[in-house]
Amino acid sequence: MIRRPRFSFLVFALAGLFCLLLQACSPPAGPGHESTRNIIFLIGDGMGNSITSAARARKGGLTGLLRMDEMPVIGLVRTSSTALVTDSAAAGTALAGGVKTNNKSVAMTPDGKKVQSILEAARNRGMATGIVVTSSLADATPACFGAHAPGRWLKSRIAAGLLASGTDLLLGGGSAHFLPRSREGSLRDEERDLVREAGDAGYAVCRTKEELAEAPDGKILGLFARDDMTTEPPEPTLAGMTVEAIRRLGRNRRGFFLLVEGSLIDSRAHDNLLEETLDQTLKFDEAVGAALDFAKKDGRTLVVVTADHDTGGLSVVDGTVDGAVLKVTWGGDNHTGEAVPLFAFGPGAGLFGGFKDNTEIPRIFARLIGAADFPKISE
Ligand SMILES: [Zn+2]
Repeated sequence: MIRRPRFSFLVFALAGLFCLLLQACSPPAGPGHESTRNIIFLIGDGMGNSITSAARARKGGLTGLLRMDEMPVIGLVRTSSTALVTDSAAAGTALAGGVKTNNKSVAMTPDGKKVQSILEAARNRGMATGIVVTSSLADATPACFGAHAPGRWLKSRIAAGLLASGTDLLLGGGSAHFLPRSREGSLRDEERDLVREAGDAGYAVCRTKEELAEAPDGKILGLFARDDMTTEPPEPTLAGMTVEAIRRLGRNRRGFFLLVEGSLIDSRAHDNLLEETLDQTLKFDEAVGAALDFAKKDGRTLVVVTADHDTGGLSVVDGTVDGAVLKVTWGGDNHTGEAVPLFAFGPGAGLFGGFKDNTEIPRIFARLIGAADFPKISE
């Protein structure tokens, strides 16, 4: 009768010690408890609800699901600029800088002041930063995160701005906007050689998937096409570039902000090309999957997926149950004013649920990374 309490005490003491050891060895608390260290923001350009719905049907018929459907928080986002129907520059300004502006303006207010992007705010806080797109890097959406211009057509200025921004990783198309005007294939309006300047500034310049894989640690400028990418081999895939970006930016101890854009959903939808629109959407979804796979393992990475606007006003009106044949109608060949879907996963994801204005999204990012004074407008 005397031994029993002693035995219990020993068991309790051992159990307590075991718990202490477990606490000491386990990583900090998982998603929802830990602060947001990394943000991966994925934008499907032109990817309205109707397009994700059609892509689901194409992928798996009646029960089809996208990788983005694994994300537990769903929202709906208003896309208007100072006009009811936005273009990609004003939408990019809202999603990057949290401010409404006129269509065609790249991270600038209607009266010509600069709007700081969330990528710039993250960089200023010591986070690593990256932009990965399938369009030209000088196109409207990436431009809004790393450059400033009163018009989206000012691509020479935008390319120079992207480089000057010090963004650690720039992967996409658009080499023509980085080469001096006299060089064959250039689309620049003057003689600055931004490829040489990038090299001088410490960037490794990559032209192929292989060069990207072998590039040393440090800043990278990946130019995989003269203008928009084809998204066909031998180019790197959007998912492949996303994995490479995460691997490299993830080494920064102060976290990273990565923008990934499925840029070409929009252009295919402008042309009312159903198969090509779905192909681009599914390629974008693969990149979402790559981001999610990392975030699920990491536990400190927030992943947010949305669109800048809908393009084409697509409706699925009939089709086979396996989704192989889809009969659709298109409402037009331009952007529409419909609200777009948002998906979120990871620490802070809960803040993105419900109905949001597009300007709220980077404001929430700013709060999560502790960037005070956002949105920020300067001369
Ligand atoms: Zn468009």
